[in-house]
Amino acid sequence: MSEYDYDLFVIGAGSGGVRAARLSAELGARVAIAEEYRIGGTCVIRGCVPKKLLVYGSSYGSEFRDARGFGWACDKLAFDWPTLIGNVRREVDRLNGVYTRTLEKAGVARFLTRAVLEDANTIRLADRDGTISARTILVATGSHPVIPDVPGREHLITSNECFLLEKLPASLVIIGAGYIGMEFASIFNGLGVKVTVLYRGDQVLRDFDMDLRDGLAEAMRNRGVDLRMDTEIASITKEGEGYRVHLKRGDSVAAGLVMAATGRIPNTQGLGLEKIGVALGPNGRVVVDEFSKSSVDNIYAVGDVTDRKNLTPVAIHDANAFAETLFNGTPTKVDYSVIPTAVFSQPEIGTVGLSEEKARELKGQGAIDIYKTSFRPLRSMISGRDEKTLMKLVVDMKTDKVLGVHMLGPDAAEIVQMAAIALRLGATKDDFDKTMPLHPSAAEELVTLRHKWEMPAPVAGSDAAA
Ligand code: FAD
Repeated sequence: MSEYDYDLFVIGAGSGGVRAARLSAELGARVAIAEEYRIGGTCVIRGCVPKKLLVYGSSYGSEFRDARGFGWACDKLAFDWPTLIGNVRREVDRLNGVYTRTLEKAGVARFLTRAVLEDANTIRLADRDGTISARTILVATGSHPVIPDVPGREHLITSNECFLLEKLPASLVIIGAGYIGMEFASIFNGLGVKVTVLYRGDQVLRDFDMDLRDGLAEAMRNRGVDLRMDTEIASITKEGEGYRVHLKRGDSVAAGLVMAATGRIPNTQGLGLEKIGVALGPNGRVVVDEFSKSSVDNIYAVGDVTDRKNLTPVAIHDANAFAETLFNGTPTKVDYSVIPTAVFSQPEIGTVGLSEEKARELKGQGAIDIYKTSFRPLRSMISGRDEKTLMKLVVDMKTDKVLGVHMLGPDAAEIVQMAAIALRLGATKDDFDKTMPLHPSAAEELVTLRHKWEMPAPVAGSDAAA
């Protein structure tokens, strides 16, 4: 008989928590998990999955317009938000059920309530008296949106509430131009909402490759999004049925809704971590070692709460490594060196490895070769869409290794996922060049980039094989 109720207690049933709980239970541990909102966590309930479904939903408008050149008559277009959001919610409910059944099948005990720590082995649940004990605790509580500290902040919604809207506003102001801001700007713009993005920085998507940032900003402006950079918010006031966003420079913008997309912070407030000696970083993240162990021996943390790279696949890899290390006798570290990522804006971004700016900073100004091309995809020749696809390779001049692959354009996420395998294997530019192109495709441009960017770019796209 064990001295503890469970071998492992997981706090938070999101991407990281569910994976860690299931695997650990399958490896023979007695596992319990607590979730205060809905099993599935951010990704499934109010992040990646419903967001991507809204991206699909919002892109049909421009697809219908493109279809006209191909002979389709799509003149009477009508869009119904309740249909889209209703179907998205049904899919989220289905996934919530799938995740719940997965835990059930693995024999994980589930507590649908908030959990906090009393001490390093004791958990208190919000919906009952008494406590539960566990040998190991895994903190997988994720993160939540930051609401900027300005007068009128109570009027702001965040990405969470976008999935709860019963009707679409006529206009929307988004504060912030990170990936979530850009994605929701594209979604709502695609659905016919007048979108204004306000951002205090000088260009969208801080830390991404500059060509991607410039290219996306230009394309989104051409699609009708009003992007205003170097713009700081003073306050938000109620005005009629909507709101007015007052800017520090004196003017203002009216909007039916105002959304904050100003970053996220780890969920560690009130969890009881500090009082038992778990070291937290300045933004409240749990500080962990390479095995996801905190400063307290039996307390671990995975996913967004550790603020390493806040993406679902990273939380899942953290969780796999955790279960392997603790319950399969195989100490396992996660390799964070190559992490592909996408921005599901319209057009889309896919990116892996170093940006040109970061590569020059790390390797030296003159140590980098850049190969890039910008072309109108074949389909646009008939649809008439005047939007360019951008592809770019960042190459180490000395070793010929490809350090970064960047793309802006249709299917960028799908293409860059595959390029990530090449980067992981240490592919050189020569390997890319020797790879047979798949024709006709946009992706073939990545293996036919012959000219360094200083030279005139070749005409690319449909006639790559000419
Ligand atoms: P979460 O999935 O957030 O799970 C944490 C869970 O813990 C939550 O369900 C929470 O309710 C629960 N919890 C918190 N405190 C307690 C407590 N005390 N007791 C009980 N339960 C608690 N990532 C991608 O890779 N691709 C994308 O396209 C993408 N799009 C995104 C879009 C949006 C709008 C957002 C917000 C995020 C997106 N992400 C995306 C990020 C991704 O969702 C997160 O990185 C991922 O969900 C992190 O998983 P996690 O397990 O760390 O935390």
